[in-house]
Amino acid sequence: MIYLDNSATTAMYPEIIDIIKEYAVDNFYNPSALYTKSLDVTKDMKRAKQKIIDILHGSGNIIFTASGTEADNMAVFGVKRFKDCKILVSDIEHSAIYQSVKKLQAQGVLVEFVTVDKYGIVDEDDFISKLTDNVALVSVMHACNETGAINDIERLVKLTRQAAPRALFHSDGVQAVGKIPINLTRLGVDMYTFSAHKFHGMKGVGGLYLKKCVQINPLILGGGQEHGLRSATENVSGIISTAYALNKTYRNLNIDKNKQIISYIAENLQKIVPNMILNTNFERSLSNILSFAIKNTRGEVLVHLLEDKGIIIGTGSACSAQKAHTRVPLALGLSKEYFDGMLRISIDNSTTMEDAEEFVKEFASCYSYLESVMSGN
Ligand code: PLP
Repeated sequence: MIYLDNSATTAMYPEIIDIIKEYAVDNFYNPSALYTKSLDVTKDMKRAKQKIIDILHGSGNIIFTASGTEADNMAVFGVKRFKDCKILVSDIEHSAIYQSVKKLQAQGVLVEFVTVDKYGIVDEDDFISKLTDNVALVSVMHACNETGAINDIERLVKLTRQAAPRALFHSDGVQAVGKIPINLTRLGVDMYTFSAHKFHGMKGVGGLYLKKCVQINPLILGGGQEHGLRSATENVSGIISTAYALNKTYRNLNIDKNKQIISYIAENLQKIVPNMILNTNFERSLSNILSFAIKNTRGEVLVHLLEDKGIIIGTGSACSAQKAHTRVPLALGLSKEYFDGMLRISIDNSTTMEDAEEFVKEFASCYSYLESVMSGN
């Protein structure tokens, strides 16, 4: 099987099973207890947390959550709002941010959406025009899960500090972590989200980085774990294995190799499908994602035809498994004929050029079959 949907999720590193066993079976102790065995578990957890902060070059703390979605929710709902404040987010934020700000909007909070270009990069002029001094929260994703577009977060943070000094800046880094080197201190963000299953860690483990001195309100109350910001007995195996997965993923990262593979796929797909739109701008995107849209074609059918040949690719949000979402294709400026034909290839560090060649060959055959069916030949 050739798996090309790594932006949806990645395969967990098999060694993590040993880490799970160690902290769920052998050293299963509750980190909040006072005996030595518990204190040892706490130490291991703290070391793992510090390792993640070091790899991401942060200078603050991480609040572990049960997902990237929860960390995004924590950023949106946890920010201390003030009278007549405004929230600013980009047009193509992941639903974890989008649905959260829509809820606040329904409660009367002012929310504004910043437009993006056809590749998903935030329009700086529109951002500046909406950046008024009553902004309490800005949330702009670091890398887009649909197109791979990388936003210039460092610059957007600087603009925010000048025009909206009371604002906290959050960035959803779920797709960026493990794919590009991250320096949270240089980016200057107040809050940053990651999710372990996107870099070969366990599903159900996420985190919100908080820069030193940043204060937010907790969403979950209870025993006061995670500095009182996220009560619940910690997912010790999850936390410790996340540090392991992140370290291994960065050690294996080969951006140049990924770029070669993605360019090879893009060039060949364009030869096979003449009326295709590329949604990925290679100058400013992750090296592992290629998003494209085919006119008047149901991408879903291609996904199933390829699956029959042992190749797994992803669809765009417009034809996601749950329900049709037209928000992102509309924001990218795609016309309706392309909505159903949005597809996404996302590779990881183990994808080879041979995998790419096999994919291109099978894609050509599936596409030609689909064309013949559609034209009735
Ligand atoms: N943010 C982005 C950009 C994502 O791509 C995803 C998952 O696809 C999430 C947030 C949600 O992360 P999780 O699956 O851990 O809830």
